[in-house]
Amino acid sequence: MAPDSIGHSNRPLKRGRKFLNTPGPTNVPPRVLNAMHRDTMDLNDPEFLDAAVECFEGLKRVFRTEGEVFSYISNGHGAWEAALVNVLVPGDLVLVPETGHFSSSWADMAKALGIRIQSVPGDWRRAHDPEKIGQALADDTGHEIKAVLLVQTDTATGTTTDVKAVREAMNRAKHPALLIVDTIASLGTIDFRMDEWGVDVTVAASQKGLMMVPGLGFVAANAKAIEAHKAAVRERRYWDWTPRMSGPGYRTFCGTAPQIHIFGLREGLAALFEEGMERVFERHRVLAGATWKAIDVWAQGGALEINATVPAERSLGVTTIRCAEGISGDRIREVCRDEMLAGVGGGLGVFGGKAFRIGHMGDMNAPMLYACLGSVEATLNYLDVPHVAGGVTAAVQHVAEYKKTHGSTTF
Ligand SMILES: *Cc1c(COP(=O)(O)O)cnc(C)c1O
Repeated sequence: MAPDSIGHSNRPLKRGRKFLNTPGPTNVPPRVLNAMHRDTMDLNDPEFLDAAVECFEGLKRVFRTEGEVFSYISNGHGAWEAALVNVLVPGDLVLVPETGHFSSSWADMAKALGIRIQSVPGDWRRAHDPEKIGQALADDTGHEIKAVLLVQTDTATGTTTDVKAVREAMNRAKHPALLIVDTIASLGTIDFRMDEWGVDVTVAASQKGLMMVPGLGFVAANAKAIEAHKAAVRERRYWDWTPRMSGPGYRTFCGTAPQIHIFGLREGLAALFEEGMERVFERHRVLAGATWKAIDVWAQGGALEINATVPAERSLGVTTIRCAEGISGDRIREVCRDEMLAGVGGGLGVFGGKAFRIGHMGDMNAPMLYACLGSVEATLNYLDVPHVAGGVTAAVQHVAEYKKTHGSTTF
């Protein structure tokens, strides 16, 4: 809306807190924001260098790797590009299991960088089948495929693929391709074990499960990936791993470090470790379960449905809800955000306009989730979307039931 003559927006004033349930960015704990409320400092101030070292150590703990970790001033797309240009050269062939919008977007980026794509078709309502990936590699007897680009949780479809099983299928095919995994929507939300599972390169970003604001992209690389990096001679500068491996300082960040973000990240990682990663994952499991209970009640009206058909394959961080013909997911999203004050995600890719997504990842607890589910239910009422009332009650009961059987929890 146009501002009035003294510059005030004509938007109606809203009071109180806005709720955020998008699958990135996510809520940031106040202690992290407070840790970022501080002065900039000398590039090599030991206080900053110590914080950077702590962040890299903490990230290794989260990735569960002894490998190298690189941090970029970027979003997830930057981390995607960093992974690609460090281990692949134009003309290389990569295998891309289709999981949804994010596997296709990553493949499009690889294509733009001159990399050839072989996709493994998938079902956008299911996790990807590791056997199909293994078969595609077994068929590649000449070992032309240089890497598999796998998305652990496709945030568009709300499905999670079993990374460990994919590695096992690759091993059975005795194929030397690198396994490059996008954990942008899953790291800090569900289990991920880079070294134990045999992942060669891992891609992540600050704003989803890691308790941080957007702006940092991360890539982890094991020894095999570093070897591939040395052999992959091509143009690259900002993303290049080699100068970044020279110890903390100016070159680690290829220029001025995002000092304030690093102080925030240190606090966000500390929050995760204090809660304990196992409990973090358990919290996501319970909140995801509560979300599904709510949607299952609404779905009895015949207009809404959880996209991921097999519960065991569902993401614990985001749930994609399909809308019946004639119901606009975008309209639900807009009304929920602007009128009901809870931000949810829209449909992406083939789901554009036909779905909406509830994020339940990051710094989230049960009452924050109830607020979102209540706002969604209010939106369904407001827009006369056919649904059965009582979704919020079902979610509340799910959490109460969990607490009755498991005792007191942090959420
Ligand atoms: C969010 C997301 C991305 C993109 O991250 P940006 O920070 O928006 O660039 C990539 N992959 C997955 C799985 C994501 O969830």
